[in-house]
Amino acid sequence: MSAVKGRHEIELLGVPASPGIAIAPALLLTKDPHKIEARKLKDSEIPAEIERFKKALEKTRVSIEKTRSKAVTQTGDIVARIFDSHLLILEDVMLLEETLERLEKDKISVEAIIDEFMQRMYRSLKAQKGEYFSQRADDVLDVSRRLIANLQGLKDERLVDLKRQVILVAAELSPSDVVQLDPHYVVGIATDLGGETSHTAILTRSLGVPAVTGLRNITELVCTGQEIVINGNSGKAVLFPTEARLKAYRDKRKRFRSFMTRLKKLRELPTETTDGRRIHLMANIELPAETETVLDQGGEGIGLFRTEYLFLTRGSLLSEEDQLKEYRRVAEIMAPNPVIVRTFDLGGDKVMPGLEFPKEQNPFLGWRAIRVSLDLPDLLKAQLSAILQASTPGNVRIMLPLISDLDELRQAKKILEEVKEELRNRKIPFDEAIKVGIMIEVPSAALTADALAQECDFFSIGTNDLVQYTLAVDRGNETVAHLYTGYHPAVLQLLNNTVEAAHKAGIPVACCGELAGDPLATLLLVGLGLDELSVSPVVLPEIKKIIRSIHSDTAREVAQKALTFNTPREVKRYLLRTMKKLFADLPVWFTRD
Ligand code: PEP
Ligand code: MG
Repeated sequence: MSAVKGRHEIELLGVPASPGIAIAPALLLTKDPHKIEARKLKDSEIPAEIERFKKALEKTRVSIEKTRSKAVTQTGDIVARIFDSHLLILEDVMLLEETLERLEKDKISVEAIIDEFMQRMYRSLKAQKGEYFSQRADDVLDVSRRLIANLQGLKDERLVDLKRQVILVAAELSPSDVVQLDPHYVVGIATDLGGETSHTAILTRSLGVPAVTGLRNITELVCTGQEIVINGNSGKAVLFPTEARLKAYRDKRKRFRSFMTRLKKLRELPTETTDGRRIHLMANIELPAETETVLDQGGEGIGLFRTEYLFLTRGSLLSEEDQLKEYRRVAEIMAPNPVIVRTFDLGGDKVMPGLEFPKEQNPFLGWRAIRVSLDLPDLLKAQLSAILQASTPGNVRIMLPLISDLDELRQAKKILEEVKEELRNRKIPFDEAIKVGIMIEVPSAALTADALAQECDFFSIGTNDLVQYTLAVDRGNETVAHLYTGYHPAVLQLLNNTVEAAHKAGIPVACCGELAGDPLATLLLVGLGLDELSVSPVVLPEIKKIIRSIHSDTAREVAQKALTFNTPREVKRYLLRTMKKLFADLPVWFTRD
């Protein structure tokens, strides 16, 4: 492939996978170089081929274990678990049995048999919906590449012995590739494929290497040695950058690095305003594996555990015992900090095989979340029972999604009491005083927050849904995306009403929608009186920094002023102006492009 020389600057937009800015020559990794041929074997060659296969299996096992230990030292346990799943793939009994059987029957070289087996496994995993299966499929390819390289006595030299700093450009990188990287030389990663939550993205974040994935065709546009820029905060890659652009990015890089160094010091410090008002800064997770990242980023608990992902990533229902293991794992890692486990929010766009979902005209207005759980009490009971049992060691709380009236809350609490009674009868311990809260994400709940607050222990405002239901704007529809905003005066009024109702009843109120993680909204939310913010783990340090730099009187004044505007644009303009004045050095301003 040849890159076009002397070209004008090209900007590509992908997915911001790991923050930071990198400027360096590209190192283009071409596709897998190993060629596989099905060589016919004589009968007399079969025993030696079996021996060769077994040796390669062992060599691959040892090399995966080595990579795993390297990952433990470099990035910690969470990342190392990726290689546990590689070992499981390698040790798959089917792989061993089918290979031996076909060797005897078809008499072809073992690489061809393995390649076919792995490709089949890869295709069937890729055909499943969801990030989880897609990652498992990538793991299969990764293991297959190692095993075949070992059979052929080849070493993957592509990333060994780098002598100067580069930005790796590849169609995609496997976790094994990434963990081999020396972050001293590989200062950035740009790939055609991949999303924000792929294993590779998780690894690059742990290694602190800026990365942009999902750039579609960057491998067709660059060649090795060509200087490029990537911005892992905005998801941009710039090819053929002009001198002026390079200079601007060098400045941004310097500012970003010094900002991050300063942020690290905040990790152990409490989240409080300059006058000592404590805000609980928690994180949202989809899967238990994210819990350690939350601690690493200085999170003070899990404010929203989206448990439906336990089902969605597997594509099947989980037994009560298996759920218990997952909830307990998160609770134990976080203890003594709180973990708020939200009961399944299935339905809407989250339908799954194994449950019969009706065909609906408007799924988001239909059979979703608490409505599904109340209609399938066995499902809810098993989940509540697992949460209760996990509540013994840690500080676990229960949260109900999409409550739209008091009756739903009462029905769910009644079922909870039944489950508690069953556990008592079976002498199984749990936290008798477990707190039960609700999400405020439907306008009817925000408007009747006074009554709801009398019968639950906490509120958590889900602005993602509250915005779509208040403004009648589908949260996932790009055609109306310009109308979707948490800064609409109607949304602010509902937030304000909910906080007032909670505080009047003496219960705490959190915000766990994406608005809570938007630095532009921090002053507003603190000023409205939110007690807790639950955000995506990656933004924890930045939000903590903002909170630790503001006085609660200033925040209150800003919030009161924001409530006086009539349009979202006015609200946003005012907040932008105020935030820029108070926090001129936030990366959100200077790394946006
Ligand atoms: C919300 O609606 O704001 C929320 C946090 O829930 P989810 O994004 O899972 O719907
Ligand atoms: Mg929601």
